Amino acid sequence: MGTKEIILVTGGSGLVGQAIRSVTEDSNTNEAYQNYSFYFASSKDADLSQLEQTRKLFERVQPSYVIHLAAMVGGLFRNLKYNLEFLRTNLAINDNVLLMAKEFKVKKCVSCLSTCIFPDKTTYPIDETMVHLGPPHNSNFGYSHAKRMIDVLNHAYSDHFKSTVNVGEKVPLFTSVIPTNVYGAYDNFNLEDSHVIPGLIFKAYQAAHDAKEKGIEHAKLNVFGTGRPRRQFIYSKDLARLILWTLTDYEEVEPIILSVGEEDEISIGEAAQLVADAFTQETSIKIELEYDQSFSDGQFKKTASNFKLRQYLPKFEFTPIEIGIRETVRWVIANYDSIRK
Ligand code: NAP
Ligand code: GDP
Repeated sequence: MGTKEIILVTGGSGLVGQAIRSVTEDSNTNEAYQNYSFYFASSKDADLSQLEQTRKLFERVQPSYVIHLAAMVGGLFRNLKYNLEFLRTNLAINDNVLLMAKEFKVKKCVSCLSTCIFPDKTTYPIDETMVHLGPPHNSNFGYSHAKRMIDVLNHAYSDHFKSTVNVGEKVPLFTSVIPTNVYGAYDNFNLEDSHVIPGLIFKAYQAAHDAKEKGIEHAKLNVFGTGRPRRQFIYSKDLARLILWTLTDYEEVEPIILSVGEEDEISIGEAAQLVADAFTQETSIKIELEYDQSFSDGQFKKTASNFKLRQYLPKFEFTPIEIGIRETVRWVIANYDSIRK
């Protein structure tokens, strides 16, 4: 038996990284990944915004492939506060990781963009050709520009590889995926930093817990904004399976949107109701929604087309959101003491 090829997953301790770990370790799905050995790196392995630390990590791991997830990440409210830090940190991380992937002759590097980087003023649905067609929403312009630069770097590396690889050698491929809002176990549930679903789950947990302590059977879930903005949510394990498919089967430099269909877009109010229902089912506390409109709504929508993905994978089955939220709520209840909060 030959030695296994190594896949370095940067950001391996986060929401998406841990979902990839669980898919590759699950006995129902792991057969496809038997020929690979995964290294899930966290910021404890290396601060990837520092070139020398990044180089040392690559020296130690010697990857043949990279799934690049590491990033400064956050929901609307963290982005509004730290646009400059999002820009500078993520520019540095991405430049260092891609440069080391080139230096260490990685065969394929799949990096992660996001649907919130698309132009604010646009037509819907958004598709992969529109990444650079206008300024992003002001609320997260730092994060967005840093992410867009990954696509620019991928094309620059592609040109470089084409003109430098020896005849007969396979040209390395640097590409990217564009997920919509992700949710699942191992998310960041800190209210100031989190995305909407983990934020709602954290608040619902606390509301249900307080009600139980007081011996009452109902509680209120505080939803920021009007609840009217619309989002497509993808369960982290579905995204993990799709990223792994990208690594093994996707051969374009151009990015690919990894999203549920446009018909599965829901309002923030509907997402909040699903969180409330899941807690009612798990705890028997009846949770009602209340809206705090002093908070920003952010971008109204960023409806993305998964047409390209469907051309490749017409039969891929997404986890229905009520099931994904229920599993995530169960995980939070079981792991509350150790979740990021
Ligand atoms: P996450 O849970 O916050 O995890 C972030 C990961 O990046 C962690 O493993 C963290 O390590 C690592 N990291 C952060 N700064 C680092 C640094 N300076 N050096 C090394 N590692 C660092 O984020 P996520 O939601 O899994 O996001 C993964 C990717 O998906 C990101 O590229 C993100 O932009 C993209 N994405 C996420 C969403 C979403 O809704 N969450 C949507 C679209 C795209 P520690 O654990 O050690 O801090
Ligand atoms: P976005 O999709 O990049 O805009 O980021 P988020 O995942 O943070 O979603 C933001 C939307 O959810 C806005 O309309 C917020 O007003 C709304 N929202 C409602 N409650 C919360 C909450 O507890 N946390 C967050 N982050 N957003 C919330």
